Amino acid sequence: MDLRLMEILDRNRQYIKDGKLPIYIPELSKANINALGIYISTLDHQEHMAGDYLYPFTIQSISKVVTLMMALEDQGKDAVFARVGMEPTGDAFNSMMKLEMIQPSKPFNPMINAGAIAVTSMIKGSSHEGIHRILNFFRKITGNQQLNINQDVYLSEKRTGDLNRAMAYYMRNVGVLKGDVEEHLDTYFKQCSIEVTCRDIARIGGFIANNGILPETGERLIKEEYVKIAKTFMVTCGMYNASGEFAINVGIPAKSGVGGGIMAVVPGKMGIGVVGPSLDNKGNSIAGVRVLADLSEKFRLSMFL
Ligand code: GLN
Repeated sequence: MDLRLMEILDRNRQYIKDGKLPIYIPELSKANINALGIYISTLDHQEHMAGDYLYPFTIQSISKVVTLMMALEDQGKDAVFARVGMEPTGDAFNSMMKLEMIQPSKPFNPMINAGAIAVTSMIKGSSHEGIHRILNFFRKITGNQQLNINQDVYLSEKRTGDLNRAMAYYMRNVGVLKGDVEEHLDTYFKQCSIEVTCRDIARIGGFIANNGILPETGERLIKEEYVKIAKTFMVTCGMYNASGEFAINVGIPAKSGVGGGIMAVVPGKMGIGVVGPSLDNKGNSIAGVRVLADLSEKFRLSMFL
């Protein structure tokens, strides 16, 4: 247990009560609202941790960063960005408002739900191999062969995912999504339901911080250019319509999920995983954001300094 990290967690516990558990995916409302944990994995092989870093939660939207890199590897940059844009929306993560705004119609970016569903549909084998290739890739970059899908969360998402379903069918109508919509949605719901701990997302962060090379083995899995794109989206869209504020207060590329996780990447240095299931009104971990702000200030981690 790292005492400096523990102190940062303790200082920010007070914010938990100002947030809420998500109820639109009923299974997520069963989380422990008081959990708060952090795990840091540095590229020079140090590990620092504090609090509930072993608390299991579903990865949710943090998965979108990884599936984006996979789709870029499979299809190349031009094909991916023919079907999804590069601009922040300023709207909620599940908003469908701007889906019709770009002509020809496409979702604004790969970090909002519509864009992420489109991206997942572009991963080779997404509709027949389903989740297997994606899950195996997550196992490889976390170094955790036990990683699996939380079936209760997956079924809960599938049952209540009508907004995602509506966006997916709309996207098929305009040609952004091709093939079997239900199969693609199923893969997306499963990718969001992968159960992780802070350590797992710190490891993914470390892989991204190391530009797509596994720190343990030196094996390159993703082209540097595609990792650069992923990090850039984390800065501009990773915290949804709080990305601007987060860039000012924290200044680290990051991606949040409604499971309460935040994955942060200090390029060339470390991956950070934080969990705190109590969410603010934009769907980001309310205490987790403050923890990262304190950490960034204390260790001068902002990329804009
Ligand atoms: N699975 C969630 C959804 O589709 C992911 C959203 C999130 O983590 N912000 O609504």
